[in-house]
Amino acid sequence: MIKRILVTGGAGFLGSHLCDRLVELGHDVICLDNFFTSQKSNIVHLLDRPNFELIRHDVTHPIWLEVDQVYNLACPAAPGHYQFNPIKTIKTSVMGAINMLGLAKRCHARILQASTSEVYGDPEIHPQPESYRGNVNPIGTRACYDEGKRAAETLFFDYQRQNRIDIRVVRIFNTYGPRMHPYDGRVVSNFIRQALAGEDITMYGDGSQTRSFCYCDDMVDGFIRMMENETGFHGPVNIGNPDEFTIRQLAEMVIEMTGASSNLVTQPLPEDDPTQRQPVIDLAREKLAWSPRTPLSQGLVRTIEWFRTIDMSEYRPPTPNY
Ligand code: NAD
Ligand code: UDP
Repeated sequence: MIKRILVTGGAGFLGSHLCDRLVELGHDVICLDNFFTSQKSNIVHLLDRPNFELIRHDVTHPIWLEVDQVYNLACPAAPGHYQFNPIKTIKTSVMGAINMLGLAKRCHARILQASTSEVYGDPEIHPQPESYRGNVNPIGTRACYDEGKRAAETLFFDYQRQNRIDIRVVRIFNTYGPRMHPYDGRVVSNFIRQALAGEDITMYGDGSQTRSFCYCDDMVDGFIRMMENETGFHGPVNIGNPDEFTIRQLAEMVIEMTGASSNLVTQPLPEDDPTQRQPVIDLAREKLAWSPRTPLSQGLVRTIEWFRTIDMSEYRPPTPNY
C-alpha cells in the first residue's frame, strides 16, 4: 500500500539512498533537511518525481505534516561534524526526537530512529550485542552525539510506554558508500579522497583500532525491513556488517584498489576513539531475516568509482574538520 513517508535528514548520505528506495517503491516521500552536512546534489534527481517533495527545515523546531511513517535520520554523523557545534548536535538528537515523536503521536504514525553503535561507547565487550549497555564517557568530546543518541532512544521507549507510539530503533554501525560527503572526515571518505588526490593517507593512532563497515544499500534494506516488520518488534536492533577490519587494513585496501602512490602517515588518535567495534547481528537475522550482502571489497569498488565521478569543486566542506 502506498504510504506518506517523512525522511528527516533525507538529503544526507543514508537519507538520500533511503529516499531513492521509497520513491521507487511508489510511496509519497517527504524529504526534510537543513542541509548542514549535505547538499541538494544528493537528491536533485528526485526533485521532478511527482511522489517526492523537499522541505528545508531544522528538526529542532516543530513542524506540522500528515504522514503514515517517519524515518528520523536528521543528525550530523561524522565526528568532525557533530563536534563542530556540540550543543546543536545534542539539541538535534533530543529536540529532534521530541518533535518527531510528537508528530508521530498526532498522526498515529510509525516512527523509526536512526540510533548508532556509539551508544556502546568504547565497548568493553566484543562483539557488541543489543543487551550491552555501553561504556560512554558522558563528559567527553563524543558525548554530544553518543549521549544525544542514548537520550533519543530513551525518549522513543518512553513515548512507546506512555503514549503507545509504534516505535522502531535501529543501531547503525559504520556505513559507507556513494554520496558520503567527501569532506565529512570519516575514515572511508577521507582515505578515498586522499588516495585519489595522491595525498598522504591520514591514519589516526597506529591503525590497530577496528571498525566493521556496512555498505549503504544493505543498511537501507535493514531500515525498511525494520519499519515494515509486523511482529511487534521495536528493537533496538543492530544493523551492520560483522566483518571487522583494522584501520590500517582499510588504508592498505584503499591504496591498492585506487592504485594510489600516497604515503600512509600517522596522526594522533582522537579523544575517546573506540578501539574496537563489531555488531552481533543475530537479532536482525532472526527478527528481520536481514544480513548484509556486500563485502567490503565490493562496496569499496563502487564507492571509489563514485568518488572518481564527482567534481570536488562542487562540494563545500560543512565544517573545517576533515
Ligand atoms: P549525513 O550527515 O550525511 O546525514 C545527516 C543529514 O541530517 C544531513 O543531510 C544533514 O544536513 C541533516 N541534518 C543535520 N542536522 C539537522 C537538523 N537539525 N535538522 C534537519 N536536518 C539535519 O550522515 P549519515 O551518515 O547519512 O547519517 C544519517 C543518520 O544515521 C544519522 O542520524 C546518524 O547519526 C546515523 N548513523 C549513521 C552512521 C554511518 O556510519 N553512516 C552510523 C551510525 C548512525
Ligand atoms: N580515522 C583515521 N583517519 C581518518 C579518519 C578516521 O584513521 O582520516 C579513524 C578514526 O580515528 C577511527 C576510525 O578511523 O578510529 C573510524 O573513524 P570515523 O570518523 O569514520 O568513524 P567513527 O567510527 O570513529 O565514528
